[in-house]
Amino acid sequence: MNNASEMPILVTGGAGYIGSHTVRLLAAQGRKIVVLDNLVFGHESAIVDPGVELVVGDVGDQALVRSLFEKHRFGAVIHFAAFAYVGESVTDPLKYYQNNTAEPVKLLQVMQEFGCKVFVFSSTCATYGVPDKLPITEDNTQDPINPYGRSKLMVEWVLADCDRAWGLRSACLRYFNASGGSEDGLIGEDHNPETHLIPRVLMAVTGEIDHIEVFGTDYHTPDGTCIRDYIHVNDLADAHAKALDHLAAGGESVRCNLGTGVGVSVREIISAVEEITGRTVPVKFGPRRAGDPDSLVADPSFAKQVLGWEARHRDVRDMVRPAWLWMSGPGRGRFPANRRAR
Ligand code: UDP
Repeated sequence: MNNASEMPILVTGGAGYIGSHTVRLLAAQGRKIVVLDNLVFGHESAIVDPGVELVVGDVGDQALVRSLFEKHRFGAVIHFAAFAYVGESVTDPLKYYQNNTAEPVKLLQVMQEFGCKVFVFSSTCATYGVPDKLPITEDNTQDPINPYGRSKLMVEWVLADCDRAWGLRSACLRYFNASGGSEDGLIGEDHNPETHLIPRVLMAVTGEIDHIEVFGTDYHTPDGTCIRDYIHVNDLADAHAKALDHLAAGGESVRCNLGTGVGVSVREIISAVEEITGRTVPVKFGPRRAGDPDSLVADPSFAKQVLGWEARHRDVRDMVRPAWLWMSGPGRGRFPANRRAR
């Protein structure tokens, strides 16, 4: 086999939210996938395809990763495994620099040993910090305002250096606000604790929490609440498949924003949830949450130009609908308990 797109792919964090949707898409495309996930935040049952092998372990366990490379001779790695709680990254930065920065360096060392030179990386719009212009293009200044964003930006730098030094080609995919779930309601977003807006508004609808607190109504936006760019998780999955194809075809390293280009306010999310669920959302208006910029909206045109990718879902109701299906269906938005304790 000499075509990297036909070779097995190692997906770290493939049992997590974005990872599991991507694994499902790649498996449906007939690609051979091995998932490496320590199940600290991932869920065994988020891997629905029987042909996908799950290996439970850490990205930084070089003996384990070496044994996987020896067995499968991966043509590419997609690296999702990371911690993503911004507030926790402020109080426990070393946890983030260890897990999100040092662990992938160990993974890259094994890739270099085995001559594997294709890497797709989950980056984030948090690498931009408070944007110096809107919508955000890839040449906006990257000046993250928390350790989470810095832990991801450092990996982007590491990847650029590895490209120069040994020809590693990478795609840094800077996600905006991942949302939604699978159309059949089999997999979806299940974080513990859940901090994200759409699932929390839905939790307020089901009574799992008393109300949704809106963090700030005095932002410089038309309705006073924060504006974000909500991107469907299946559109993110599609971008990973296209990034793999781009790199497998010999394409150069790329850094791209993955968003819709459409800004949606917190109040608009609440209205969309009321429309989809047919229920009233109990709301309380509170103070701003520290570190929230007024507005974060992508200019996604570069991803279209270089990867041929654009978001198919642009109306936020298309993200709320599968999130509600997942939360109101038989699984009630929760995977069975993990084998591993947190
Ligand atoms: N938000 C809110 N109440 C919540 C959770 C989030 O008002 O309980 C707001 C938050 O201030 C931000 C937006 O919703 O403006 C999206 O927040 P989320 O945590 O989902 O994603 P982030 O943009 O922080 O990555």
